[in-house]
Parts: sequence; C-alpha cells; structure tokens
Amino acid sequence: MELSEIYQKERYGVLGDFSPKISFEIFPPKNGDISSLFEELRILKRYNPVLVSLTYGASGGLNRFSYEDLKSIRDLEFNLMPHFTCVSMLKDEIEKHIVAVENLGIENILALRGDIPDYINPEELDFFHANELVEFIQAKTTLSIGVAGYPEGHIESKNLKDDIKYLKKKVEKGASAIFTQLFFENDKLYRYIETVENAGINCPVIAGIMPVRSLKQIEKMTSMARVSVPKKFIEKLEKFPNDSIQIGTEFAIEQCQNLIENGVTSLHFFTLNHSDQTSEILDNIL
Ligand code: FAD
Repeated sequence: MELSEIYQKERYGVLGDFSPKISFEIFPPKNGDISSLFEELRILKRYNPVLVSLTYGASGGLNRFSYEDLKSIRDLEFNLMPHFTCVSMLKDEIEKHIVAVENLGIENILALRGDIPDYINPEELDFFHANELVEFIQAKTTLSIGVAGYPEGHIESKNLKDDIKYLKKKVEKGASAIFTQLFFENDKLYRYIETVENAGINCPVIAGIMPVRSLKQIEKMTSMARVSVPKKFIEKLEKFPNDSIQIGTEFAIEQCQNLIENGVTSLHFFTLNHSDQTSEILDNIL
C-alpha cells in the first residue's frame, strides 16, 4: 500500500477518529543472521503495522539488506519501505537499485541523502541533496516516496527555518510523507508540525519514536543529531543505570500517550530490532 493511502493528513490539535497507525524500523542484524530478525517481526506483526521500514547503511556490506532479504521480509506480508541513501552511488547504480526495488513488488521507499563520508568528494556526486534523489525516483519509478524530517533542524542546517525550506523542495519533487528523526520533547514536534504547515507543506508527518535502552545510546545520538533530552530523564538514567531499559520504556509510553492525546497518531518506532521493548510500549498505549 502506498504512503498516501496509509497516511491521511492529520492535523495536530484536531482530534478526529484517527486510530493510531503504527510502523517499525528495523536494521540488518550485525551477525548477518536474518532468521533472528524474523522472530522479532513475527512478534511485532500482532500490532498490525501499516509498514516496516528497513535501514540502509551508506558504507555497504553487512549493514544493508540484500534483495533476497527484502523478498523474504515482504513474504511475511509486511508493507515495506526500504530506506535508500544516495551519497555513495552514481546515477546509473541508483537507477538500477530503485528499479530493482520496484521489481520486487515493493511500493514505497525512504529517499535519503545519507551522511557524507570523509572519503567522498562532494563535487563527484551526481546527487548532493535528497530533493534531487526524490525527483529522480519520481521520474524513473512509480515508487511512493517518504523523506526525513528533523523536529529540531538537521545538524548541518543553520536553523529550522532553513531546513524546512529544503524539506519543502523534497515534497514539491514528489515526497508523500515525512518521517521524523527521534525527539524526546513533544513540544518540539508540535511546533515542527505547525511550522511545516505554515510553510505550505501539505504532507503527513510521522513521529519517530526511539525507545531508549541506555544513557550511552543517548550520548551517542546527541553527538550525531540535534536532539534535546529532558534533564529529568537523563538524571534518572544516571541514577539507576541497571534499570535503563525500564526507564526508557516508561518514558516512551508517556511520550506516545501525550502524542496520541494531542492528535499525533502516526508513530514510527525505531525498534533497534528489540521487539520486547517496543511490544511493552504498544501494549500500554493501544
Ligand atoms: P537532505 O534532505 O539532503 O538534507 C541534508 C542537509 O542539507 C540538511 O541540513 C538540509 O537542510 C540541507 N539541504 C537539503 N537540500 C538542500 C539544497 N537543495 N540546498 C542546500 N541545502 C540543502 N541514514 C542512513 O545512512 N541510513 C538510513 O537508513 C537512514 N534512515 C533514516 C531514517 C530517518 C527517519 C531519518 C530522520 C534519518 C535517517 N538517516 C539514515 C539519516 C540521514 O541519512 C542523515 O540525517 C543525513 O545527514 C541527511 O539525509 P537527508 O535525506 O535528510 O538529507
């Protein structure tokens, strides 16, 4: 099912009869054993996800799903949205890849620029920003296209306003849904949705939820992205390091309950391939 069919435009602050639309992000298991992931997916299936997204490592190797993997996961009857980053490929290879994805019968793709590795000379790239990739996918395939959004602005952008200017380009070039980076302060997301709407971007925003497992994980994320973390949350994790998964789970439950109460009902879980934690959150919010 295509993104525009899954997500109607939801207006923050307008409570309708929107039931939560749950989706999951998974990544290729580090040991290459895809069967362990199937077990996690079978557990997550009982929450009727509207889609499952699959990350794409920019540097190749084991951190990418193979086409065989995509087929096997699709055969579990999930609606898939593979991610794709264009930084490490030239136009010909990109075309081959997106056509191959389409030929697998997959309908959606998350079009990303990716983080630019040090060894790449930006001047040699065919596409330097995701809006160019969106335009190319739109021209070459019938794939429905999702793009990334950043509630506090992308780490390279001057400010949120500037970032949203470029987000608008991605939507104008054909994107149908905006999947956000993780955030921990809901007010930041509410303001983001308003800013997106005020910029004339008429596209659903899907909230990215990261169930926290440790303080170290937060430190890593905040070093790579612009993400505010409530002081109380950090203090609790510092005080009870052995209970960090439970603390992270409780935080996510409260965060999701507040989002749903405020009319944000499309929730995309960065599962980190841990169905147990995501299941506990969903059992408490659905
Ligand atoms: P862009 O939209 O191109 O934006 C990158 C920066 O350039 C921003 O600062 C933007 O403001 C600016 N910009 C955009 N267009 C222009 C323009 N035309 N002119 C000037 N400036 C411009 N990474 C992976 O490697 N694999 C994944 O699977 C993956 N999944 C992700 C899933 C989600 C939901 C999110 C939010 C991010 C994901 N990422 C992933 C991370 C992403 O690749 C990085 O954040 C990357 O640095 C930016 O990608 P983008 O598509 O947002 O880039």
